[in-house]
Amino acid sequence: MAGEPQDDCLFCRIVEGHVPATIVRETETTVAFRDINPQAPTHVLVIPKAHYPDAAALAAAEPTLAADVLREARSVADEDKLESYRIVFNTGAGAGQTVWHAHAHVLGGRGLQWPPG
Ligand code: 5GP
Ligand code: ZN
Repeated sequence: MAGEPQDDCLFCRIVEGHVPATIVRETETTVAFRDINPQAPTHVLVIPKAHYPDAAALAAAEPTLAADVLREARSVADEDKLESYRIVFNTGAGAGQTVWHAHAHVLGGRGLQWPPG
């Protein structure tokens, strides 16, 4: 069923506490944790606890939950006192998506180039 935990999903396993992560924020519906391979001084992943394969699927199925993820991304940036930051949803392998559980990257703490390349 849509949103149900998947045994073979790394981020579902983090939600369940079966894989360790440096969690910075948690709500009833979301978890935010530091990326294992940070690309900036702040590099936090915000995920819905429910499993959706990417941000588009999440937004289509549960727009309120998608909004929760965005709100939490803002809270992560506020906690790290970031004036400027970037929220990224890599969607599809060609855009760099490697984990098929919707997640927002929150990046900041250094200058960020645009376009990103
Ligand atoms: P994507 O490439 O799918 O947009 O982002 C997946 C992110 O998950 C990557 O930035 C990668 O470094 C991060 N990641 C992969 N495995 C782990 C892990 O076990 N723990 C944490 N905290 N991050 C991970
Ligand atoms: Zn999952």
